[in-house]
Amino acid sequence: MLHHEDTDAAEVLSPARPAGHTNPTPGSGPMSTDTHSLTIGVVREKRAGEDRVAMTPAGLASLLKAGAKVLIERGAGHAAGFSDEAYADKGAEIVSREQALAARVLLRVQVDEDAVADTHPGQIVIGLAAPLAGTPTVSALAERGATLFAMELVPRTTRAQAMDVLSSQANIAGYKAVLLAAGALPKMYPLLTTAAGTIAPAKVLIVGAGVAGLSAIATARRLGALVEAYDVRPAVKEEVESLGARFVELPLETDQEGGGSGAYAQQLSDEQLQKQRELLAKTVANSDVVITTAQVQGAKAPVIVTTDMVSMMSPGSVIVDLAAEQGGNCELTVAGETVDHGGVKVIGPINLPATIPTHASLMYAKNVANLVQLMLREGSVDVDVDDDVVRDTLVTREGEIVHPRVREVFGLAPKAVPAAAAPPAPAASESGPEEVAS
Ligand code: NAD
Repeated sequence: MLHHEDTDAAEVLSPARPAGHTNPTPGSGPMSTDTHSLTIGVVREKRAGEDRVAMTPAGLASLLKAGAKVLIERGAGHAAGFSDEAYADKGAEIVSREQALAARVLLRVQVDEDAVADTHPGQIVIGLAAPLAGTPTVSALAERGATLFAMELVPRTTRAQAMDVLSSQANIAGYKAVLLAAGALPKMYPLLTTAAGTIAPAKVLIVGAGVAGLSAIATARRLGALVEAYDVRPAVKEEVESLGARFVELPLETDQEGGGSGAYAQQLSDEQLQKQRELLAKTVANSDVVITTAQVQGAKAPVIVTTDMVSMMSPGSVIVDLAAEQGGNCELTVAGETVDHGGVKVIGPINLPATIPTHASLMYAKNVANLVQLMLREGSVDVDVDDDVVRDTLVTREGEIVHPRVREVFGLAPKAVPAAAAPPAPAASESGPEEVAS
């Protein structure tokens, strides 16, 4: 039977209540006396290949403790390895899809087209919604009167780390990229000295040493590969070396800042990118595996590996492009496909975290539960826009898009997020009040 118990990993990811969080002002809004007036629904994901689930048995505890009733659609966690019994054992109710969809708060992994018809006015929906890509689902949810929180918009601050799905899922993608490359490579990774001869270790180059890149470095090292890594931010050198990889230094003049948490790469000019490709070409040509993870926030992924550079690699070499969905770091990448170029395989995976659904769900669910926890008050929801994490993830509310950056993407005039407003009328009979902190 499918059944995953809580793991150590899940416990490590479970934080105490984040520092800096303040309790709501007494009397700042209506409080429900019925501790079960708040329902949180979890449904089975419908998108092809999306095997993750938005809540796991391990993630339930904090929600139940805060007075919520959690309604899990029958079979919602099966693809991720979580049985209905495992949820029920931890205190959730197993219900039909319709019942789960009627909940006050709906947790999803993908908030896509399906979500619009499934959502009722006044409902709070939390999940991945790609709001900065201008996804029509976002405006449709606004029109429907739903309150949408997009997990991609969790600020990358120390306090919000326990809610950062971009990091938790990138970690998994970096790990899986190394395994995908190993599966496609006609060689082994480790150095082997045997009676049948000596096998040289595979040479792996990681381009971009952010969260996914560092995870890929650690995984490739564990498998015994010789690993080199390059990032445009020189400050990551130390982290790269601490994982046992060699940092590739290019004499490239940029004004990239240090690499402390929260430091992000700036977009390079066309000339800088051209120079970068020239300098990196020899290292790429000498590698058996190249894993690219380079991204710049809010921009198309930079093209770092050109067709000419791929032509210089030995047949049998493999490129795994983790930026495939953002346009690709390799000129030949096709998202969702493997391109063969003169015997070099260029793999452009999409939604890699969903291919490790148990652990991806454990981490995603913890991130989501930590965000929801910020808004739960004795069995009701308090959308406190004075809390930066709540405010930064809030995308739609009361019939409109309220997030400044998302409004910009949709071509809407700037608008201040309302600090206080009347709670929207809930459609479902059991829906509790949505309190608004003033
Ligand atoms: P990302 O996915 O946006 O980019 C991946 C990497 O690509 C980055 O390291 C970036 O420097 C690199 N890159 C961009 N353009 C490049 C180019 N032309 N050539 C080579 N490399 C290029 O980044 P990420 O993984 O989301 O995180 C980046 C940084 O933010 C890391 O230092 C990470 O530790 C930090 N971070 C902090 C927090 C937090 O404080 N809560 C959370 C997550 C990440």
